[in-house]
Amino acid sequence: MKDPDESLWSAGLEILGRLVDAGHTAFLVGGCVRDRLMGRRLHDIDIATSALPEQVMELFERTVPTGLKHGTVTVLEKGRTFEVTTYRREFGYSDARRPDQVAFVTDIRDDLSRRDFTINAMAVGLDGKLVDPFGGKADLESGTIECVGDASERFGEDALRMLRAIRFGAEFGFRLAPSVWQGILAQSSRLKQVAMERVGGEWDRMMAGSGPDQACRWLFESGLPEHFRECPPASLLRGDTAPVALAPIQDADLRWAAFLIGKGLSVDEITVFCRQLRFSGRRISRIANIAEFNARLRHDFTREQWIGTVLDIGAAAAHDWLVSCVGQVSKNSEAVQWLADMPLTAVSQLAVKGDELAARLDRTPGPWVAALLRRLAVQVARGQLSNEKPALLSAAEQAMRE
Ligand code: ATP
Ligand code: MG
Repeated sequence: MKDPDESLWSAGLEILGRLVDAGHTAFLVGGCVRDRLMGRRLHDIDIATSALPEQVMELFERTVPTGLKHGTVTVLEKGRTFEVTTYRREFGYSDARRPDQVAFVTDIRDDLSRRDFTINAMAVGLDGKLVDPFGGKADLESGTIECVGDASERFGEDALRMLRAIRFGAEFGFRLAPSVWQGILAQSSRLKQVAMERVGGEWDRMMAGSGPDQACRWLFESGLPEHFRECPPASLLRGDTAPVALAPIQDADLRWAAFLIGKGLSVDEITVFCRQLRFSGRRISRIANIAEFNARLRHDFTREQWIGTVLDIGAAAAHDWLVSCVGQVSKNSEAVQWLADMPLTAVSQLAVKGDELAARLDRTPGPWVAALLRRLAVQVARGQLSNEKPALLSAAEQAMRE
C-alpha cells in the first residue's frame, strides 16, 4: 500500500500543478512543509497561491468559500480537503489577536513574512525546492523556536503566538530562542486580549501532545496563566510548576486531572477551571470524575466503590490512573486485581442494548434505559449476573417489577 503521507503530499502537488498551469504561482506551505522535513506525520496540507479566491473557485470543481475575506478557499479533491489561501499580508493588530486588515500580495515571500515562527514560514514549490527566507530549516536542525522578525513585536500583534511558541517548543522538544522567551516575558499581559476558548485550545493541545511537562513548566515560569482573561483558581498559580510527571500518562483527560490535583485544586476548582478553558461539558465531567476517583482512592475504598468508578470513568482511565500512582493509593495492588477480575468494565460491553430492553419491556425509551443498563452492568461487573442476553433480559424484567 502507498504511504498515506506520500499520497497526501503528491495530491497537494497536483493541486499546485493545476494552479501553475492556469498561470498562477503556488506553494505547499507552513505546517506540512515543517512536518515533512522533520519526518513527522502530515495531517493536512495548506497551499498558498497568487490566485485570488474567485480564481481558485473557478479552477476547481468542488470548493467551499471557507474564509473569503482572508483569501481562503477549501478545495475538495479525491475525498481530501486542501486549504488554498491567496498570498497575503496583515496590518494593524489593535486587539492583539486579529489583523484589522489583510491585503493580497503577489510574492510568496511576503506571505511567509506574516507567519509566526521560522519553522512555520517555509514553502515548497512544484519543483520540490524549499523557499526558506528566514532560516527555518536551520532552526529545525538546531531545534529552536524563533520568530519571523522581532519576537516581542510579533507577540504584541497576536498574543496567542506566545502560547503557540510554547506548544511547538514542547511538542518538538525544541528550545525557545532567548528572544522568544524575552518576548513572552515582555508581552505576557497581552494575553488578556485572547479569548479563553483559544487559550484552552492551545493548552489542551500541549497537554495532549508529547511534551506536556515542559509545556507546563514554561507556562508557569513565564507567568502567562496570571494574565488569562479569566483569573484561574488561586491554587493553580501557586506552588510547584510540575507536580506530577505527565508524559507517562496516556490519556489527555487523565493528564489534566493529575496535573490539577497535583497543583492542589479541589474537585470544584477543577470544574471551574475547566469551564474557564471552555472544555465541553462531557470532558469537564470526565476530568472531574477522575479527580473524584482520586479523592476516593486516598481513603479506604471498597470493591463496590471501585467497580462503580471504573464503570463511570472507564477501564483504560482506571488502569492509567493506577499506573501513574497519583495520590497515595493504599489499595493500589488490590485495585489492580479487582480491575483484572471485572467481567465487564463498561456499560457498552453488556450483551444487551438499550433498544432491546425497551422492546422487551414494552416501554418507550427514556432516561430509565441508561439507569437500568448501568444497574445491570454493576451486577455483571460484580460477578453476580452473567453477561448473556437471556439472563440480562430476565434480570431487567425483575428489576422493573421491584
Ligand atoms: P499544527 O496544525 O500541527 O498545529 P500548523 O503549522 O499547521 O501546525 P496551523 O495553526 O494549522 O499550524 O497554521 C498553519 C500555518 O499558518 C502555520 O504554520 C503558520 O505559518 C501560520 N499561522 C497560524 N497561526 C498563526 C498565527 N497566530 N500567527 C502567524 N502565523 C500563523
Ligand atoms: Mg495545521
